[in-house]
Amino acid sequence: MASPIIPIADLRSARTARVPDLAVPATGVLHDRLGRPLTDLRISVTDRCNFRCSYCMPKEVFDKDYPYLPHSALLSFEEITRLARVFAAHGVRKIRLTGGEPLLRKNIELLIEQLAQLRTPDGQPLDLTLTTNGSLLARKAKALKDAGLQRVTVSLDGLDDEVFRSMNDVDFPVAQVLTGLDAAHAAGLGPIKINMVVKRGTNENEILPMARRFRGTGMVLRFIEYMDVGATNGWRMDEVLPSSEVVRRIAEEFPLVPLEHSAPGETAQRWGYAGANGQFDPALGEIGVISSVTQAFCRDCSRARLSTEGKLYLCLFASGGHDLRPLLREEKASDEEIASAIGHIWQGRADRYSELRGQLAPDNSATPGARRVEMSYIGG
Ligand code: SAM
Ligand code: SF4
Ligand code: SF4
Repeated sequence: MASPIIPIADLRSARTARVPDLAVPATGVLHDRLGRPLTDLRISVTDRCNFRCSYCMPKEVFDKDYPYLPHSALLSFEEITRLARVFAAHGVRKIRLTGGEPLLRKNIELLIEQLAQLRTPDGQPLDLTLTTNGSLLARKAKALKDAGLQRVTVSLDGLDDEVFRSMNDVDFPVAQVLTGLDAAHAAGLGPIKINMVVKRGTNENEILPMARRFRGTGMVLRFIEYMDVGATNGWRMDEVLPSSEVVRRIAEEFPLVPLEHSAPGETAQRWGYAGANGQFDPALGEIGVISSVTQAFCRDCSRARLSTEGKLYLCLFASGGHDLRPLLREEKASDEEIASAIGHIWQGRADRYSELRGQLAPDNSATPGARRVEMSYIGG
C-alpha cells in the first residue's frame, strides 16, 4: 500500500533576525542554552534536485508546479561566504554544502574556492565537505577538488539497480553513481563517506551487499535511520529499521567491534571490522550507524543550518528559521552586527526534538501546532 502523502504547506516563512541591543561579539566559542557549542554549519545551496527520493522529495509533491525559490531569493556566493566567515569567527570549524542537490548549483566550484580561503580564529582552514547524490560527480569531482573541497559524502541507498532506480524515483541507474564514486576517489576527495537511508521493506536487503562491497575500500559506509523529517514523506515508525538491527545483521557475517567517537558532536556510532584476531583491523575499515530515531543525540548537537535563501535553522525539525538575508541586503549590517545577531540566536537555542519525539503531539512537530520544513530545503 502506498504511504499517505500529506499535502505541502509553505513553511519557509521566518522571523527576521535582529541585531540585539546587547552586543554578542564573536569570540570563537559560542554556547546555546543547553551548553552546546556552535561548531558545525550546513549550507543548502539549492532547493532543487534531479532525484525524487520518496523519503525526501516525493514526486507527488515536488512536481512541476512546486514553488521552488526564484534565483533572486538565493544567497549569492559572496553572501554565503560572508556569513560563513562570521560563523567561523563564532567557532564553526566544519562546513558542509548540501541541498537539494548541491552539484546542480551553477559554478559551485567558485563558492568552494571562496570558502576554502576562510580560517578559524586559530588560523586553521575549515573542514570543507559536501553531500551529494553522486549523479554529477563523475563530471565534477576533479574541479571540486581543485577548488579546495576536501571530502564528499555520497548518498547511495542500494546496489541493486532496480531498487536504486525505484528509490530515486527518476529511474537513475546505480552504475552512474558508482562511476561518480570512483571519480571522487581518483580525485582524492576522501575519506569518502557513503550514506544509506534504510527503509524497512524497501531496501533492507541491500544492507549486506553494501557492506560486502565497501568493506576494505577505505570508504566509510553509514546507515541512517529513516527519519520523520519534513511533512511530505508519509513517515511511519514501522518503516524504520533500528540501527541495532543493521549492526546485528552485518555482525552475523562480519564480526564488528565498537569504536570511539571520532570527534565531539559526531552523530554516527562507529563499528570497526574485526580481523582474524578479533581486534579492529584498519585495513578492513569501519561502518557507522546514525540512529536519529531510536537513539537521540541532541545533547551533542552543535550544528546550525543555513537555508538556500539565508534562513538560519537551529534544528532539523524546527518549524521556523531566523532570516539573516535582510541584514545582508536591506539593512546593510556590518560583520559585527551580523555576528551579534547570530550570537544572540544561538544563545537562545534549546532545540532537542529527537529527545522529545516520544512526548510530542501526534503531528510530531517540535513546536506545538506547527509543521516542519523539508529536508531538501534546509539540507540533511
Ligand atoms: N541531495 C544530496 C544527497 O542526497 O546526498 C544532499 C541533500 S540530502 C537532503 C542529504 C541527506 O539527507 C542524504 O544523505 C539523504 O539520504 C538524507 N535524507 C533525506 N531525507 C531523509 C529522511 N527522511 N531520513 C533520513 N535521511 C534522509
Ligand atoms: Fe534529492 Fe538528496 Fe533529497 Fe534524494 S535525498 S531527493 S537526492 S535532496
Ligand atoms: Fe540536533 Fe535537532 Fe537533530 Fe536533536 S533533533 S540532533 S537538536 S538537529
